[in-house]
Amino acid sequence: MDFWYKEAQTNDLLLGVRVTDILHSETTPYQRLAVVETVEYGKMLILDGAIQCTERDEFLYHEMIVHVPMHVHPNPKRVCVIGGGDGGSVREALKHSSVAKVKHVEIDGAVIEASKKYFPHLSSGFSDPRVDVLITDGIEYLKNCEPNCFDVIIIDSTDPVGPAVGLFSAEFYGYAYKALTWDGVICAQTESPFASANLLKKCWHNMKVHFPQVGVATGFMPTYPTGFWTYTVGSKKMALKANREVTIRGKYFTKSLMERAFDLPPFLQEMLEGSKKNL
Ligand code: SAM
Repeated sequence: MDFWYKEAQTNDLLLGVRVTDILHSETTPYQRLAVVETVEYGKMLILDGAIQCTERDEFLYHEMIVHVPMHVHPNPKRVCVIGGGDGGSVREALKHSSVAKVKHVEIDGAVIEASKKYFPHLSSGFSDPRVDVLITDGIEYLKNCEPNCFDVIIIDSTDPVGPAVGLFSAEFYGYAYKALTWDGVICAQTESPFASANLLKKCWHNMKVHFPQVGVATGFMPTYPTGFWTYTVGSKKMALKANREVTIRGKYFTKSLMERAFDLPPFLQEMLEGSKKNL
């Protein structure tokens, strides 16, 4: 028998992955959660029909969303990860020796439990004493949290559907601005410039409402729509470059990648700078 998982990445584009086993399937209070075994990408975590991470390519995404903003900050000690229930962003943040605390705010505890069971390589950071996990809505959390309490905030969210919609709004970026220290840095996953161009433009404008410096880093991500992904970074004070020695060499992220992290391809620069504020 031949089983294929098919994801409609846009209304007109499908990704098909051969599946050898369905390891887990449940409906949580927030979403449909599945873990499947695939030939091409190893184990794959799926939420509401959208691939969240796979064993084979997750490092591309997690190294970019964490190490780029972490090097813009001169000395990141207190980090907040919103979403990211698989644990990949927490794992990468802990690789920075300056980090004293990681506050992980995930709305759906079932994603964390599934990751602990099926993705030990991703969820390895949850047992680190520097990590404090809170199961709640990241929007409400940042809205009500003390001002100036984080150096870096990472928004590792699902696509803008359901409880994640507000994580892409100007209002939410304002809560993050308030929660950051004077030299704080935010990084949000902002989807594909091909499949979700309007969303990326919206996030770029929304972040610029609050942050004086906003840049977009790009990277490959084979299992996400169109394989080309963006990470929008906002900085309160620090220039968008490495503001300390680049200490991390990952499987994808390197010192030379950091040197050109915000060097946007011209088509993307034109797309963003030519876009209207109210999309
Ligand atoms: N890397 C993935 C991607 O780009 O598709 C995201 C992975 S991670 C599993 C996304 C997480 O965001 C999910 O576990 C989801 O439960 C969580 N999430 C969605 N909305 C949230 C909210 N308002 N507050 C906190 N977590 C949220």
